Amino acid sequence: MSEYAPPLDNINFLLKHLVPVQALARLPRYSHVDAELSDAVVAEAARFTSEVLGPLNGIGDRVGSHLVGGRVITPPGFREAYRQYAEGGWVGVDLPLEHGGQALPRVLQIAVAEMVNGACVSFGMLPLMERAATKVLIAHADPALRDCFVPHLAAGRWGATISMSEAGAGSDVGRARTRAERQSDGTYRLTGTKIFITYGDQDFTDQIVHLVLARVRGAPSGVKGLSLFAVPARLVIDAEGGLGDPNRVVVSRVEEKMGLKASPTCVVDFDGAAGHLIGQEGDGLRNIFTMVNAMRIEVAVQGVAVAGAATRKAVGYALSRPQGGPPEGDAVMIVEHPDVRRMLMTMVARTDAMRALVYEAAYQLDLSEGAATPAERQAAQALAEWLLPVCKACGSEAGFEVANLAVQVHGGHGYVKDAGVEQYVRDSRVMSIYEGANGIQALDLVTRRLVRQQGQSYRLFVDRIRTDLAVGADDRLGAIRTSVQRELERLESCTAWICQCVADRPRDAAAGATAYLALVGLVAGGWMWLRMAAVDGAGQATRQALARFYADHLMAAGSSLAEQVRSGAAIVDALTVEDWARLA
Ligand SMILES: Cc1cc2nc3c(=O)[nH]c(=O)nc-3n(C[C@H](O)[C@H](O)[C@H](O)COP(=O)(O)OP(=O)(O)OC[C@H]3O[C@@H](n4cnc5c(N)ncnc54)[C@H](O)[C@@H]3O)c2cc1C
Repeated sequence: MSEYAPPLDNINFLLKHLVPVQALARLPRYSHVDAELSDAVVAEAARFTSEVLGPLNGIGDRVGSHLVGGRVITPPGFREAYRQYAEGGWVGVDLPLEHGGQALPRVLQIAVAEMVNGACVSFGMLPLMERAATKVLIAHADPALRDCFVPHLAAGRWGATISMSEAGAGSDVGRARTRAERQSDGTYRLTGTKIFITYGDQDFTDQIVHLVLARVRGAPSGVKGLSLFAVPARLVIDAEGGLGDPNRVVVSRVEEKMGLKASPTCVVDFDGAAGHLIGQEGDGLRNIFTMVNAMRIEVAVQGVAVAGAATRKAVGYALSRPQGGPPEGDAVMIVEHPDVRRMLMTMVARTDAMRALVYEAAYQLDLSEGAATPAERQAAQALAEWLLPVCKACGSEAGFEVANLAVQVHGGHGYVKDAGVEQYVRDSRVMSIYEGANGIQALDLVTRRLVRQQGQSYRLFVDRIRTDLAVGADDRLGAIRTSVQRELERLESCTAWICQCVADRPRDAAAGATAYLALVGLVAGGWMWLRMAAVDGAGQATRQALARFYADHLMAAGSSLAEQVRSGAAIVDALTVEDWARLA
């Protein structure tokens, strides 16, 4: 039986009203897309994820992936599900037509990704890596390498990894020590150990292409010395991608983890493995940045997906669990209790705001490639780049915190495994860590995005919100409009403070960065509710009630976040390293 019911009403509402696929379809780039196609993709993804992936989530958690005789064995059902996923063409949803994809807009791909991850995040981890690797190869590999590898990846016949992390190189990838030796035939030999590699091995595909960051002999230290290589698990013997002997790549360990147990997180040893340079030597980090935007939005949607699935279960439970009420009479359902309603309102208001924001970022990415004029494309790119670290950090946190509330709504039954909600907490915990820990996202927002091009991205964000605040005068939007207006002014003043710090007192800016990103996320969520509550038609009263809750309850956090932004480094520097050593 499926454990997963896709949030089709929410997804269809967004694709119709907030990020209209029909508007994209009027652009030449997406002229092959229409409402019928969009509806069919969403409906088929809903069927596949609820019927095929949903039932795997629990068994994946219980059985996990394991290393047996040097190979990874995934839990029962995963291999067959992957075969169906690949045959259904899901890997290539937003990849270019000429490279075997379907060239659908990113918003549709994100809708599919939400359903895949809502059904089973552990499964969704492999396509995430495959699509990221394929995009890097399309963008940077020389034509022979690209044309040999990409068709297999886009069709899902080959798997892929993104292999950056090492024991001494986590957030600071510039410390990677894996070496690459240039060979006389133009290939390279790679030696080193990568850790935490998602789907470093699996039993779905005959081939796995590892995209590996490594340093060619003589290259400078730091990020400038890194190059990117495609290292196949099996040697490729012809231009069509025929497979030969195993390469010198060994998975030596699969981590025992808190969650995502079916997604094998591997230590991968490269022992003189044959590899192909992607792009130029020294361009490794720049090339891998091609997929950073894609990865950030995918992690954000993972958080939304888990939050949505957890919320649905909590609402169902609250409607059916009798507890409390008058001592003489029947117990009432817990949904009657104000504190339970507070939790449910928080869950729905946060989830829907983040879902809308992530789809908005995807929409801007679509416009950045397809909008009519260069100025429109450039503006969309700038806005997307501003939103992406916010989506990644706030989406991942929403996933974990909403899942945690779902456990609370279930009481003790949520803490035991049967209800299936404690898994959401464990599975979502890592989303704040991988693809750039959330603290690093906040630093990126403050030290790079805010100041880049004289704050153009930030200005676009603020201007869009001001434009939407100015539209109409619907009394029913009063609370959300007032709160967004108020918190936007607060954000403006914090931004001025942060910009000053970045220039004069960078440590103060760094100390306030996480609170600053949270404030941006809070305002952005309010902006989404302002827009959603303004849409006439079915469900509007519900949307306006949720918008009001977001405005009155959640946006009240803005003042304390602003205090934290401005409190500076002195307060966190009050204890010295020696003090910390005494506390350790
Ligand atoms: C389940 C899982 C799957 C993963 N999959 C992959 C994968 O497929 N490929 C891959 O290459 N990697 C993968 N990773 C690795 C992941 O990307 C790293 O764990 C992540 O980048 C953080 O690195 P780290 O664990 O070394 O933590 P560290 O970098 O040691 O960070 C520890 C803490 O210090 C903070 N910190 C570090 N540096 C700074 C700084 N300069 N300023 C402020 N704060 C800082 C961080 O925010 C964090 O809170 C995966 C990890 C996990 C757990």
